[in-house]
Amino acid sequence: MTAQPEDYRKALDRAHNHAVEWLESMATRPVAPRQTADEVAAHFRVPLQNRGIDPAEVVDELATFAEPGLMGMPSGKFFGWVIGGTLPAALASDWLVSAWDQNTAMRYATPAASAIEEAAGQWLLDLLGLPPASAVGFTTGATLANFAGLAAGRLSVLADAGWDVNADGLTGAPRVTVIVGEERHTSVDLALRYLGLGSPSVVAADDQGRLRPDALADALAGLNGPVIVCLQAGNLHSGAFDPMREAIDLAHARGAWVHVDGAFGLWAAASTQYADHLDGLGRADSWATDAHKTLNVPYDCGVVVVAKPHLLRSSFGAHTEYLVHAIGDPWENVPEFSRRARGIPVWAALRSLGREGTIALVERLAENARALAQRLAALPGVEVLNDVVFTQVSLSFGTDERTRAVTQALIADGSVWMSGSHWQGREILRISVSNWSTDAADVAASIDAVRRAMAAAE
Ligand SMILES: *Cc1c(COP(=O)(O)O)cnc(C)c1O
Repeated sequence: MTAQPEDYRKALDRAHNHAVEWLESMATRPVAPRQTADEVAAHFRVPLQNRGIDPAEVVDELATFAEPGLMGMPSGKFFGWVIGGTLPAALASDWLVSAWDQNTAMRYATPAASAIEEAAGQWLLDLLGLPPASAVGFTTGATLANFAGLAAGRLSVLADAGWDVNADGLTGAPRVTVIVGEERHTSVDLALRYLGLGSPSVVAADDQGRLRPDALADALAGLNGPVIVCLQAGNLHSGAFDPMREAIDLAHARGAWVHVDGAFGLWAAASTQYADHLDGLGRADSWATDAHKTLNVPYDCGVVVVAKPHLLRSSFGAHTEYLVHAIGDPWENVPEFSRRARGIPVWAALRSLGREGTIALVERLAENARALAQRLAALPGVEVLNDVVFTQVSLSFGTDERTRAVTQALIADGSVWMSGSHWQGREILRISVSNWSTDAADVAASIDAVRRAMAAAE
């Protein structure tokens, strides 16, 4: 079958129309989907027909049947999990990434994609105050960015113990102890599982979910053998940051590798408002973050940063050791061999925002979180459970039962979306302000929606 140039044009024009309609509907459409997965499946779960269908028609059918089952994640009134929307420049450049279809593995084969991603990586290191000579890899998300950073750590601490994990694997290797705070993200446990490191050693956290340095010191004191300490910048429930300088100094004094999971919170480092919270951040050995959360690029885009580039490249490059290579190929810094040029939307997002705009984005998200917390706390029977230091707000409506009832009423109302969760032994309603477009009107509408849900839960 020969594709005609018009086929692309027609299909892309339809996709463009549907995309713009979808995005423009955010202003008026409920955030919640109107159909369940099973209801949507009624249209899609049909036997594959024999003959092909015109590409433009396929796009129309897809958009029409998908629409009732789409969650308004690009909406400024979406506060579920930690998600983020999409900046216009990031979205448009992501379309080009698909159209260009560059398998971003090798510099000589995809020079433009490689150069643009390298530029994005440098901007990112600069904005976040991370060591400028670090290696940067663009992964599918923070789970894989954690995996990649921890892989470099595993290689390094085992090498320090005289063990070559690339050559000899883990069987018979000295046991690597991985220390995490009680409230690390579950994806850290998954990354450790993929790495064959088993379950981590858990140390206590304080009332905001921050790892306690005294507990870390105790844990380190009793240990023999290689150690990795995994810290967190941005707690899912409270937004809080682990005490970086203190924890990193303790860990390094013991010869441990320090990895920081900053899936959404690492972006706080762009703002001087967080200088105290993140003091010492740049002394860690590896960092993971997402661009698809706080930076608001489309899924999927995570970022791994490793201060000593050869350790990342030794983990994922095909050769066991890189000593003097100025710049590696993109594939050497990530678990995937073939992949899309997902760093390009990062470049476009940062280019469109500029330094000031990026800082303003981060500060605005936190400001909206504070506004929501303050105004919700003023409602009778509403308790804000965390110190609102960043983008996350955890709420209780009294008893667990009532909090659950309000959460259900809010989801049934559908005009905003916030997540029910469980934190420090209580049911909570959690707000994550991660969308670049959330404004004062969205905040006001969200307060109204919570008020209605409280009345409905009476
Ligand atoms: C979201 C999140 C992750 C996992 O990131 P993905 O992009 O979903 O893989 C890890 N850690 C924290 C703190 C997160 O918020």
